[in-house]
Amino acid sequence: MRRSLRRALFVIMSSALVGGVAQANDNASGKGEMLADAKQYLAKIAGDKGIGPREAATASETETANYIYDVLLSFGYQVERQEFTVSFKKGAEKKTSQNIIAYKPGRSGKSLVLGAHYDSINAKAGSHGVIDNGASVAVMLSLAKHLSTQPKSEDGIVFIAFGAEEVGLRGSRHFVNKLTTEEQQSFVGMINMDTIVGGDKLYIHSAHNKPYNCQGVPNNYRFDTSLRDELLKVSKEVFGDDGYQLHPDYAGYPAGETGNWSDHAPFACAGMPVAYLEATNFSIVGKDGNDGYSQSIHPKLWSCINEEKLSACDAKSEKKWGQIWHTGADQLNFLNGLFPERINQQMDKSLQLLSAYFE
Ligand SMILES: [Zn+2]
Repeated sequence: MRRSLRRALFVIMSSALVGGVAQANDNASGKGEMLADAKQYLAKIAGDKGIGPREAATASETETANYIYDVLLSFGYQVERQEFTVSFKKGAEKKTSQNIIAYKPGRSGKSLVLGAHYDSINAKAGSHGVIDNGASVAVMLSLAKHLSTQPKSEDGIVFIAFGAEEVGLRGSRHFVNKLTTEEQQSFVGMINMDTIVGGDKLYIHSAHNKPYNCQGVPNNYRFDTSLRDELLKVSKEVFGDDGYQLHPDYAGYPAGETGNWSDHAPFACAGMPVAYLEATNFSIVGKDGNDGYSQSIHPKLWSCINEEKLSACDAKSEKKWGQIWHTGADQLNFLNGLFPERINQQMDKSLQLLSAYFE
C-alpha cells in the first residue's frame, strides 16, 4: 500500500486507534520484561542467527521493515509504511526503502518523535549492525509495547523506524520533507537513538550551535538544548551520577553538542528541539581528535592502545581505533564476549530513562 505521507499522517493522527491504549494497565510490562523483550527483538534483527546485515534498499532491509511493522501492529497501533526511492548513483536504477511509523495519541494534540534507523552498512566487513543500530530499534519496539498499555500522556508519541540512514539519512529526510507546516508545528521535538549501546559511556547530545548544512531539507534550523536537558534531568533522577552525561567541550564539539550525521539532523533543520542518545567515549583521542568516533578503550578494538594517552600507540599504523560501528566487531556474540552484559545493561538504561520520561 502506497500513500503520501500527508494522507498517512492525517489518517494516523485523526484516528482514535491504538487498541492497547484503551486497555487497562494490568498487563503493563514490568522493567525486567521490557529488557527481555528488547533482547528478543535485538536477537531477531541483528543477532548471529537473526536477520543480520540489512543494507539500505536490499531484500534484508525490507525483511526488517516488515518485521518491525508486524511487531508494532501486534501492540494495537495503527502502523504506516512510508516508502521512498533511493538512487545510489546518477542514472542508476532506483531502489525502494521505507520508514515504519506508529502513533500513540496524547492529550495535547502535539507529539514527540522517537526515532531509530534500522538499516546497517558494511556487511562486507562483517557488521551485523547490532550497536548500529539494531539495539536502538529493539529498545524502541520494547518501549512501544510498554507504552501501548499506559494511559495517554500529555504529548503523543510518533515511533519511527527509519530506512536508509547509512546512505545519507534518506528516511528521516524524506519524512521531514513530506510534513506540512501544520504537521511540523504539531511536533514538540525529536529523540534520536543511534548507537545507544557498545561504547564506554552514555551521552545525550543536542544539535550544534552552528547551523547544520540542511541539504535538501527546508532550512529553519534550530539550536535548542531543552529536550536534551530535560532527558538529562530525568537521567539524574533515575540513575544519579551513573547515567547519561554531556560530553565535555572539545575542538569542533562544544559540550553536549553533536554534528549532522544521523537522523536528528533533518528535524533540527525543520526547527525542532532534538536529543540524541549515544554510547561512545569522547575521552579517547581518535584519528581526528576527541570526536566520539572511537567508542571504546577495550584493547581488542585496537591494534595497540596507549592507555595513558587514551589513543593509538602509533597513529600511522593503527587500524581499528576503538571503533565497533561499521566494522566486523559489530556482532552480538563477539560483543557479549568482549563486554559481558554491557549491551543488555545499556539497553536497560535507555529503557528506564525513556519510560520514566514518557510516563
Ligand atoms: Zn547509525
